[in-house]
Parts: sequence; structure tokens; C-alpha cells
Amino acid sequence: MADRYLRLTGTAPGRFLTRRLGLPQPAALARWSAERPALDGGLLHLTAGRSALDLAPVLARTGTGPAGSDRTAAVVLDATGVRDVEALAEVHAALHPVVRSVAASGRVVVLGAPLDPADHHQAAAQQALEGFTRSLGKEIGRGRTVNLVRLTDAAAAESTLRFLLSPKSAYVSGQMIEVGADREPPLAEPAPVDPDRPLSGRTALVTGAARGIGEAVAETLARDGARVVVLDVPQAEHDARRVAERLGGTALLLDMTSADAGARIAEELPDGLDLLIHNAGITRDRRLVNMPAERWISVLEVNLASVLRTTDALLKDGTLKRGGRIVATASIAGIAGNAGQTNYGASKAGIVGLVRSLAPRALDEHGVTVNAVAPGFIETKMTAAVPLFIREAGRRMNSLAQGGLPADVAETTAWLAHPASGAVNGQVVRVCGQSLLGA
Ligand code: NAD
Repeated sequence: MADRYLRLTGTAPGRFLTRRLGLPQPAALARWSAERPALDGGLLHLTAGRSALDLAPVLARTGTGPAGSDRTAAVVLDATGVRDVEALAEVHAALHPVVRSVAASGRVVVLGAPLDPADHHQAAAQQALEGFTRSLGKEIGRGRTVNLVRLTDAAAAESTLRFLLSPKSAYVSGQMIEVGADREPPLAEPAPVDPDRPLSGRTALVTGAARGIGEAVAETLARDGARVVVLDVPQAEHDARRVAERLGGTALLLDMTSADAGARIAEELPDGLDLLIHNAGITRDRRLVNMPAERWISVLEVNLASVLRTTDALLKDGTLKRGGRIVATASIAGIAGNAGQTNYGASKAGIVGLVRSLAPRALDEHGVTVNAVAPGFIETKMTAAVPLFIREAGRRMNSLAQGGLPADVAETTAWLAHPASGAVNGQVVRVCGQSLLGA
């Protein structure tokens, strides 16, 4: 499972050799830890066009130091006021002189405005920011990430900016994230949020949490204060109980495909549920010509049908509380497609459809947001089983030239689950190091 190549390029002789051979140069990513909770260095706030955003107080709360320290850890370019092609020159003028100085594992965050359907010049200029962001992400290197946030209200985007401007988003790059205007009163959060344990008092159910990405998600939500319910199939009892015990949570042994899964969850949680994390998933790869019906059916059942069924049940019976969060798990295979995965690709694309359609209604009717994470190549038992050559290609075919870790998906989930993320709804956020597939 270990990425030996990444270890090799972390040594001086390895770096010399691989550079001479023209091979990829993955940088060791600086991830979140209790000892390193924030980016190391200052934040540079630049503007292109005339902006109406009140960003300074929000940026001051992101935990990144002010500009002027000798290291630039992050650059935020407010381009929300860019309304025509001429103003795009200011994007170049702002970033061209500073991009070289952004530290390794640093961040570039471009802020844009929603596309104006009544002004095609504004729409062209704002859409240009997406191509710009994706291109810069592909060339910037040294473990640095580049993302675009479309927003109208700085305060509503605070949790998103905090995430993107922290070590927690190490493997999220080349993304465009839309943040709506804050939706009060349904998402009013009168209780003050403890910044170190923002999920305290909340109950999270993570499906498929006995191992892999789900285990990391449960661990991260518990770190943030949530009481976790570790759900997995009865065959995974030993691991599910081990994880639950370690996190001070409870195990729920249940096959999500069983018809009464929703009712069983509701029974287990008489006080309701705040965070429903659909992570359980399986692969049964074969090319379509060789794929028996049972492989198709089982993948669609676990990855999509059971997600739809239990979500419907838990929304309908009120188990999922107001202010709640649903985070489902898609995959880049559902966006780009993958040979041998017609069943899996279909099931994960189905998750994207579910999120887009349900998100606005779930917020209006239940006060619950619905988003998805779409992992790229993540180092787990699932990907360790992939044949060596394909595995190596999967690891390198992204802007960061390495696989992600379960913790990267977990941190993204924790941001979406945050009480202050109520304005993030209907998003599918890829955690893929800007994979070249479907980019
Ligand atoms: P994994 O196989 O390591 O873990 C999946 C867990 O889900 C297992 O514990 C399994 O027992 C459980 N599970 C399977 N069917 C279930 C069911 N019917 N009911 C309850 N639990 C069930 O997988 P992973 O790599 O940790 O992947 C987690 C999720 O992320 C999956 O949805 C997967 O499709 C998705 N994903 C993973 C990657 C990757 O690179 N690892 C990439 C894209 C998407």
C-alpha cells in the first residue's frame, strides 16, 4: 500500500535520479496535525476588478498569519468584481509577480462571482477564472493547490475559506466550489460553536466505517467532537467494534442493502441524527461484455439504491434533524468513467444526480444540506488490490503526482459537516489532487 516512489523522491539521490529521467516529482504534502493546525506563513490578499466583498475580517479568522511574514503560505485573489475580458488582465497583474513566492504546500484561492445570465461579458470573464484556476493548478507544483470559490457573501463562505486555507485541504486542488448566500433562519445556529470541537453535541452515522476511508471519516468527525456511530456489515463486526471503541462511539452492524436499513438506523438513534455520511461502497469490476447481472446489481444496490432508500427514509421520518448534513460518496470514476467499471461508474454518477436534485429541496423542506465527496486515487485496501501498473498510473495521474490518504477525504467531509457550512449545498467536491481524469 505504501507509495515507495514518493519515499524515493523524498531523498536527495532519488530526487536527482528521477529528475534526470524526467519522472514525476511529487512533493511531500503538509497535512493537518495537532502540532501543525495552520499553514506555515502569511496570507496575501489581492484584488482584481472592483469587489464588494467584506473579506478582511473573514480572512483574519482563517488562522493563517498576516502578509509580511517572510513566507507566503497563501494567496487569496478576490476576482468577484471581474466583469469583462479587460479586467482579466488584473488577474494576471495580481498573481504573476507573486505566484513564485508561494511556499511549498501553499494555497492559491481565487474568488469568483456566480455567472450572470443577463450579462455574457461578465459570464465569459467569470468562466475564464475556472480555466485559469485549473491551468494554474496543473503547473504550480511543489504540493501547492489552486481552487476557485464562487460566492456572493464573504461571511457565508468562512468555513470554506478556512478549509481551503488550511493543511486540511492538502489533496483538494483544481476545484470550483459554489457557496450560496447564508440561508437563515432554517440554518440559524444560535449555540456558539467551539472552534476546536465544532461538532460537539452532534451525532454522526458513517456507513462502511470499519476500515479505509470510512474509518478515517469517523475518526475525524470524532476529533471534531461528534458522537460517532460506526456502521458496517455484520461480517466486519470485529473491526467495527474496534473502531467504535477507539473513538468512544457505538458500532451498528447492518447491511445497508437490507430493506429495513432506514428503520434499523432510526431505532438505534431515538434522539435523531445530525450527520449522515454515506461512505459504504464496493467494486465488482469487469468489462461490460463479461459482466454477469449479479455484479451489476450488487454494485448498484450498495453504492446507489441503498443510499437513496435510507436517505429518503431518514428524511421522511424526521430522524435527520434540522441543520443536519448528508455527505455521500461519489468517485472520479463516476465523472470521467473507467474501463471495467460500467457498474461502479454508473452508481457513482448516480450519486452526483442525487445530490444535485435533492440538495435544494432537502434544504427547503428539512433544513439539511446534501453534498458529495468524489475521491480520486486514495491509498486504501480497495486501491491496494488494483494491479501494480494501473495502481502506479492512478497514483501519478494528478497534479500532485501522488495518491491521497483517507484523511484527505475525511477532512473534506468534516468541512461539509461543519455547522457553519450551511451555505455549501449541492456540491460535488473532488478529493483527487486534480486528477487528469475527467478534469
Ligand atoms: P473499503 O473497501 O476499504 O471500505 C468499504 C467499507 O464499506 C468496508 O468496511 C465494507 O465492509 C463496507 N460495506 C460494503 N458494503 C456494505 C454494505 N452493504 N453495508 C454496510 N457496509 C458496507 O473502501 P474505501 O476505499 O475505504 O472506499 C470508501 C468509499 O469511497 C466507497 O464508497 C468507495 O467507492 C469510495 N471511493 C474510494 C476510492 C479509493 O481510491 N479508495 C476512490 C473513489 C471512491
